[in-house]
Amino acid sequence: MATTRPARQRVILYTRVSTKEQSERGYSLRDQERRLREHCERKGIEVVAHFQDDHSAKTFDRPGFKRLKRFARLNRNRIDGILFTKWSRFSRDQAGAMNMVKHFLDGLGIEPQAIEQPVDYSVPEQWFLLAIYITEPYVDNQRRSLSVRQGMRQANMEGRWTTTPPIGYQRSYDEDRKFMIVPDPETAPLIREAFEMFATGQYNMNEIRKILSRRAKALDRRFYNSRSRFNLMLRNVVYIGKMRVRAWRDEPEQIVDGQHEALVGEALFYKVQSLFDAPRSGRKAKYRVEMPLRGHLSCSHCKSPMTGSASTGVGGRYWYYHCQQSGHDRVPAERANKDFTKYLSNIKIAPAIVEVFGDVLLDVLMDVRQDRQGEEAALRKKMGALEEKLFGIDVAFVEGRIERDSYERMKERYTENQINIQLRLGDLKLSRVDLAEQVQFGLGLLSSLDVAFIDASPRGRHELLSSIFPRGLIYRDGSYRTSPPSEILYLLSGKNAAVYAKEKTGHPRLLTLDVPSGGPDETRTRDLWRDRPAF
Ligand SMILES: [Zn+2]
Repeated sequence: MATTRPARQRVILYTRVSTKEQSERGYSLRDQERRLREHCERKGIEVVAHFQDDHSAKTFDRPGFKRLKRFARLNRNRIDGILFTKWSRFSRDQAGAMNMVKHFLDGLGIEPQAIEQPVDYSVPEQWFLLAIYITEPYVDNQRRSLSVRQGMRQANMEGRWTTTPPIGYQRSYDEDRKFMIVPDPETAPLIREAFEMFATGQYNMNEIRKILSRRAKALDRRFYNSRSRFNLMLRNVVYIGKMRVRAWRDEPEQIVDGQHEALVGEALFYKVQSLFDAPRSGRKAKYRVEMPLRGHLSCSHCKSPMTGSASTGVGGRYWYYHCQQSGHDRVPAERANKDFTKYLSNIKIAPAIVEVFGDVLLDVLMDVRQDRQGEEAALRKKMGALEEKLFGIDVAFVEGRIERDSYERMKERYTENQINIQLRLGDLKLSRVDLAEQVQFGLGLLSSLDVAFIDASPRGRHELLSSIFPRGLIYRDGSYRTSPPSEILYLLSGKNAAVYAKEKTGHPRLLTLDVPSGGPDETRTRDLWRDRPAF
């Protein structure tokens, strides 16, 4: 005898809402249930149970659905089907949905059915239809995401800001009820001030951040505390009323006129940009112009590095280099400096060596340049990937797929990476000077060290000294020597190499060049030092 099922069909109802529908959740759930119950009443179907999920898991790992499955397994013989309104309520995951349909049909003999998208399982061709119904939510997701992207880009191209307003602005709507940004009365003045302070060149970024952060609201303080956000802010064209539209697909990045009000004038903005691009000049008085030899001179008694200080006497301040120990070397800085340039003017590099050195230098620079080009290309590629990611999270945020917190975290992380890459690219650009020029400069520097030294900035002097006299200089009785002898000078001065060979057994007197007390050189060096540029 065959099991006799009651003539009346018996079903389980299933209703579900996604996170996106949260706001209208109650309404949507009630509406689905109402439509299902009306359907059953019309068709004379008995409703045995109702399960519900307001959980947005993409898979079937939802509490309501799990209970439904257990109930269906236990009551398989009393149940004919599971009803829901559309296949997207069953699942938005196409592969999982197909397997779950088979599980119910073949495993339990229960028919899953969407009342608004019915499928007749007895007709093989209808399985195609099922595949379409099941895939549709996924395709719809993709299509929606694409149209959001296109819509956002279109809005951006029209100069309309689409995501969270940048600091200094707040959200507003124009007469067509379209989203736009307007200056925020509380933060906008601080932004203007930041640009103005930075443009004076008297504050660095961190000082400005600290000053403004004290005046900002608790909420904005987070902004001022972030170095990378602040840096990016000072570079953002949004503040001159423009917008940067990111590259997308085959369309390049571009800057368009925005529909919002500028916070700063273009002149001020570009002044700030030029300060960013300028090489940092040591504003801290680490290298005092009065004492270029500090840190390079060694005491002739104990060989320890000499320091420097000023003492006030008749007619002003006088600078001295001196050993930390009393009774050791102490020399007036002015005289030591003057004698040092004389010493440099006496160092002559052999012409043959200059030539060889030029060739070697060119080789080295060529290698360096190739490395740099490789690095630059890699960095640009990374930059492109970051642009894409940034755009991706903007879209995800607008679509409500990620929370504000994680959106901001991700945005900050990507942005920080971008800034680092930008800075590195800037460094690479700075060093991309003409090679021949660099070599020429290097050789010129070697053939007239005294001029190079006087022309250099305080920091440049320090670097020049460190590279030529890494081990320290000793100044005694008006003349200089190095201890031990400078390797570089030994290598460069062909003439002295012979001297060195002869005197190898003696004291390291190789470069103990006595400074001539008169002669043609003296006039030249003295004038150079006196006419040094002001720093
Ligand atoms: Zn000493």
